[in-house]
Amino acid sequence: MALNIEVELTKAPKQKPDVSRVGFGTVFTDHMFMLDYEEGRGWHSPRVVPYQSISMDPAAKVFHYGQTVFEGLKAYRTADGRILVFRPDQNFKRLNHSNERMSIPHLDVELALEGLKKLVQTDRDWVPETEGTSLYIRPFIIATEPVLGVAASKRYIFMIIMSPVGAYYAEGIRPVKIHVESEFVRAVPGGTGSAKTAGNYAASLKAQEEAALEGYSQVLWLDGVHKKYVEEVGSMNVFFKVNGKVITPALNGSILKGITRDSMIQLLQSWGVPVEERPVSIEELYEAHRAGTLEEAFGTGTAAVISPVGELNWRGEKLIINGGETGELSAKLYETLTGIQSGKLEDKLGWMVQV
Ligand SMILES: *Cc1c(COP(=O)(O)O)cnc(C)c1O
Repeated sequence: MALNIEVELTKAPKQKPDVSRVGFGTVFTDHMFMLDYEEGRGWHSPRVVPYQSISMDPAAKVFHYGQTVFEGLKAYRTADGRILVFRPDQNFKRLNHSNERMSIPHLDVELALEGLKKLVQTDRDWVPETEGTSLYIRPFIIATEPVLGVAASKRYIFMIIMSPVGAYYAEGIRPVKIHVESEFVRAVPGGTGSAKTAGNYAASLKAQEEAALEGYSQVLWLDGVHKKYVEEVGSMNVFFKVNGKVITPALNGSILKGITRDSMIQLLQSWGVPVEERPVSIEELYEAHRAGTLEEAFGTGTAAVISPVGELNWRGEKLIINGGETGELSAKLYETLTGIQSGKLEDKLGWMVQV
């Protein structure tokens, strides 16, 4: 496809921050990517423009009915100065899965990838170079038709914005304490749990706030029907090492299909570690802990890559995992995946895309 992505460069480049001091997602690069959709015309006018505010009609559907989807991925600078993006095709495939659920028109994956590359190239000086740092990339779509009727919008904007981020573990990996959530649920079968759509996150804030008051950094979500099976941890997928085997909840329609999750499974399989994708009940984990076979637990996602779980609090009982320390397998997975992403380790599985 011959793509003509117009680039309008900023006349006022910003000062680049010291990434070790910026909070996650607080500083944005000089440019952004935009693409418009209108019914009858399809997606059109791909362009890179200076980062700026956008103006919208207050009746735009996204404000009222939350018809919107997003993605999150990262670009890394290698020691020899190349810029690599981790599995971006997977993000745009998943964006289309989310689009399908939210009645948003499909986006051409190739066009989205071209837009992403053009934007990263334009702002390549914004990809930080210190160990552990990266450029976080946030693609998203919003419904912009200014009509209050509850129906799918006839107009959308697709945008990509980018933000330099510091090392997630500036002081080394530290396990987190997790509250097993027994009141609120994140998703139900037939709902929107497998889509990366705003409402899921708005609905998760209450549980997150209440857990934080008790000193827990995230919640472990149980299934929305029985509150029996483990689904995710915060906005990460979750894994358990029990008796030498790795277990992760099967993708059942209410779990987000994490790209880090998929990558971890592939790495484990390549090492000959048995991985089971199946329903995992909280009772099973409780019993394994009692028997001394719950060896490790960790969340996976783009932001942290791995977040080891040192404690699970279930109905006031504290299950301490691996003495509250990062497990060996968690550490190895972390070192391997971040090594591939930063270009230090060979990319045997062909995950990195050079920009
Ligand atoms: C984004 C997300 C994940 C992790 O997906 P990655 O592709 O690994 O970043 C897991 N769960 C939820 C709810 C998410 O939104």
